[in-house]
Amino acid sequence: MLKKGFNTKALHEGHLEFSPDSVSVPIYQSVAYPYLDAKEAAAIFAAEKPGFTYGRWDNPTVMVFEKRMAALENMEAAIATSSGMAAILLLCHHMLEAGDEIVSSNRVYGGTFSLFDVGLKKMGIKVNWVKNPENFDEWEKAISKKNKFVYVESPSNPSLYIADLPALSKLAKSHKLPFIVDNTITSPALQQPVNFGADAIIHSTTKYICGNASSLGGIICGSKKLIEDGIRKGPMRYMGPSMAPMNAWLSIMGLETLSLRMERHCNNALAVAKFLEKHSLVESINYPGLASNPYHKLMKKQMTSCGSLMSFVLKGNYNDATRFIDSLKVIIHATHLGTSKTIVTHPASTTHSALGETEMKKAGISPTLIRFSVGLEDEHDLIEDIRHALENVAKKKTHPAHPSLSRLLY
Ligand SMILES: *Cc1c(COP(=O)(O)O)cnc(C)c1O
Repeated sequence: MLKKGFNTKALHEGHLEFSPDSVSVPIYQSVAYPYLDAKEAAAIFAAEKPGFTYGRWDNPTVMVFEKRMAALENMEAAIATSSGMAAILLLCHHMLEAGDEIVSSNRVYGGTFSLFDVGLKKMGIKVNWVKNPENFDEWEKAISKKNKFVYVESPSNPSLYIADLPALSKLAKSHKLPFIVDNTITSPALQQPVNFGADAIIHSTTKYICGNASSLGGIICGSKKLIEDGIRKGPMRYMGPSMAPMNAWLSIMGLETLSLRMERHCNNALAVAKFLEKHSLVESINYPGLASNPYHKLMKKQMTSCGSLMSFVLKGNYNDATRFIDSLKVIIHATHLGTSKTIVTHPASTTHSALGETEMKKAGISPTLIRFSVGLEDEHDLIEDIRHALENVAKKKTHPAHPSLSRLLY
């Protein structure tokens, strides 16, 4: 049979052969499934016959999502979880035990950093952090005899570090270690880490895959041995961070338009980045899609396009940054990324505020660092919104954000 393309798989994989009586994937809002007779129940439990057993480790709607994700990442199997962090925790729990070590770039999502630094430490597992991941020697030095895998997030959130995936997978393989990639920031529409030697791929499906800020979710893609024989029969049963059927359905709906959305995300992001790059109030901009970015060449080798996450440093002080944010009228101020609406975040006053001034400096977070996750609005409206907010910064003028909004909930 002809090999199907990405979009055809994103729309059809796993569905009709399973549920031929519905064009939209049905939501099986059920935790248990009746057996025809005792013989069938025994056969399903013994994995001699396909079938569903209990909602913690299998559900028909979740299965369609898993099959589709495995197909899009060109992996044998996938297992969906209640959040991106649950996926990383489950994988760590399955692969590690007390006394083991792992190697990871320190440019990882804050939740992942805490899981490795605090959570794994509590379980007696040591993380050998690679503090300057651009420096390949540091990776080599970080690998010890007790290492169980090499972990990287590329591009990383929020620093937009891009890892040399082929080089790192070669290094991992030379030590017979699995190579694990968090592919959240690109989605499989822009980068397929299996082509560069990844053995397991993690996603927070909360971001671009679901795509409209409506459901948390995560997934691990890998070999049948890792996913089905290992995780589903093992820790998924006794830990239980399963994905809810409704969230699987929302994520399937997201997949069906993923590559179309990514195209618009990327075009809008490049337009915004080019506008910011030329603006006199912008000190520096970090977006690997720009030719001036140090990761640009590597990005083009590994990704079909750069995605829509970017950050920039505004000229001025903390108050100028908050003035900028409060002046935006179309762009929403929230802690999220990868959704259809453009989101702005100000790490110094929110996600990183607990660090204090010195620690923030050490982590490379400037008080005027601003992060955008560029959405699907009209390019013109985004640029005008940003232009106007920058004018307010220049005039030291303060505007309440979204003057039409007031708190309804609290
Ligand atoms: C958000 C995020 C996670 C965690 O996902 P949740 O769904 O929020 O638990 C992990 N990795 C990356 C790169 C992320 O951006």
